Amino acid sequence: MCEFCSKHGEGKIWYKNASNYSHDLLSDLRRRKFIEQFLDVTIKEGFNNLLRLEAIVHKKGRLPEKIIEKMIENAKVEHFGQVVPIEEVKEIINKSIDIVRLPCACRWTIDKSDVRCCYGITYHPSAWYQNLDMSYFKNSNSNLLETVSKEFAIRQMQDIEYKGAIHTIWTFVTPFIGAICNCTLKDCIAMRTYSRIRVETIMMAEYAAFVDESLCNGCGMCADLCQFNAIDSNLEGGKYTATIDFNSCYGCGLCRNACETSAISLRSRI
Ligand code: SF4
Ligand code: SF4
Ligand code: SF4
Repeated sequence: MCEFCSKHGEGKIWYKNASNYSHDLLSDLRRRKFIEQFLDVTIKEGFNNLLRLEAIVHKKGRLPEKIIEKMIENAKVEHFGQVVPIEEVKEIINKSIDIVRLPCACRWTIDKSDVRCCYGITYHPSAWYQNLDMSYFKNSNSNLLETVSKEFAIRQMQDIEYKGAIHTIWTFVTPFIGAICNCTLKDCIAMRTYSRIRVETIMMAEYAAFVDESLCNGCGMCADLCQFNAIDSNLEGGKYTATIDFNSCYGCGLCRNACETSAISLRSRI
């Protein structure tokens, strides 16, 4: 189990602990302020800061370790994500009492694309997202906080996974959980933070992918879907098989979608 499970899980995987969705956590004034300013401060200022840091990394090769540590520490306290496979996304959605779809804040911030794949979830009638300042999406034509059914949300997330997006769950001042997102390396500020400046603000899933070599025909299709370059191939006895690097695999499960022989499965990391 990850560090969040030890701190916030009460013996479970932390995002399966209902108290991390509780209304009580919303009475915290710091959290309310964080939510009100989330789009303008965490997302917009965060992206501008990322552009500055990318320029530094481009020039110097790497950020100083102290800056990396500080950024990760702050993210863990305020807004941290974890990769979640679709099976568990379904469980979380099915337990919620209301779900809204809103424009993806990262895609909107990066290039004003209005892609509606961010889901606010709540286990309580007075939902946290009512406090978001939606004027951030001022030129969007879409209905900004669109209530959707559980079936709709799950179906869209399954569809978007087949188009290459991974599912992630997010805190709004940890441990309060408020959203499930659908992200790609190209579109997500957090994934870009990891891939371009090596600062990790998304944790690996509680799972990692494994290949059953007896079923693998070495076609290589799974490697094409992996955004974390975790899959390689191995030639042994004249036969190619896929190999997955446990330490690079984020456990998103996307590679399973490419495998016609069902050779890949997710297993608990512990
Ligand atoms: S975390 Fe993912 S879905 Fe959420 S706002 Fe960013 S890219 Fe969009
Ligand atoms: S190996 Fe599979 S589960 Fe692991 S990160 Fe790559 S696509 Fe995701
Ligand atoms: S897609 Fe399946 S069969 Fe093809 S290389 Fe990957 S694990 Fe093997």
